[in-house]
Amino acid sequence: MSQCPKCNSTRVIPGTLGTDRKPGIFRPAGMRSFTVSADAGSRFTAAGVLACLDCGVVWGAVTPAKLEVFIKRHCRDTGSVPTSQCLKCSSNRLATGKIFTDHKPSLLPAAFEPVGQRFFTLALGATRFTTEAVACLDCGFAWASISPEKLRSFIQRKCDLTPDNAVAFEGAKPSSDWKEMWIGGIGVALIPIGYGVYCLYSGHAHLLRRHGPVLDVQGWEAAVLASAYIALGAFFHFHFFWGRHARLHIWSPRLKKAALLIFACGVGYMVLRRFF
Ligand SMILES: [Zn+2]
Ligand SMILES: [Zn+2]
Repeated sequence: MSQCPKCNSTRVIPGTLGTDRKPGIFRPAGMRSFTVSADAGSRFTAAGVLACLDCGVVWGAVTPAKLEVFIKRHCRDTGSVPTSQCLKCSSNRLATGKIFTDHKPSLLPAAFEPVGQRFFTLALGATRFTTEAVACLDCGFAWASISPEKLRSFIQRKCDLTPDNAVAFEGAKPSSDWKEMWIGGIGVALIPIGYGVYCLYSGHAHLLRRHGPVLDVQGWEAAVLASAYIALGAFFHFHFFWGRHARLHIWSPRLKKAALLIFACGVGYMVLRRFF
């Protein structure tokens, strides 16, 4: 069991900063304006980091020797005297800076991504860092803080309950994620379903193609394509509505798979028919 190095709480949540191939980066403060460097700072040794649910501290590790070299080479001496100690080794040879990630467009600020997030969640920087980052030049321990309240509510709304994040769900009332449930599960789902039903009714169906004009099919093919559209709508419905429903959610994965299979068969059939 992991323990928070700051407040000793054991309510610790695993998550990631960047990806395995591109872990997050610690960029020391005071970089010279025209310095030339292939890296923008010191990369974390792994993408996996931990966050404390009680005080919001997020921590990981950088390689201290590399960070020291980087600072000597690319940073001016800010002359700032560290006001704190390393949370791990109590050293006061600390570097302040910023954490950022480069695995997705840098438009989005670096955020701690808790494990167990559902696909298609609308998560934009909900777990952004609220403080400056600090890294220890002796042991490589690096940390920054996020809002623990925001992290808890983010996990409750956007993540599936797993043994790893169960502590974040303690005392939570069953989530009523009604916006995603109704907008995604009914609003979005009804578009392909409505179109599919219309195709069945009119006997015509259209398929957008990457090259060439829109395909207009009739008869049997139209019925197959219409079923595929309806299956796609059903997929959204099972994902957003059933997936977030207190009792129905256990059926959601199986129904989603079935809907996807029907959709794939329908589209696959159409594609094969065009070629053979
Ligand atoms: Zn803590
Ligand atoms: Zn240290």
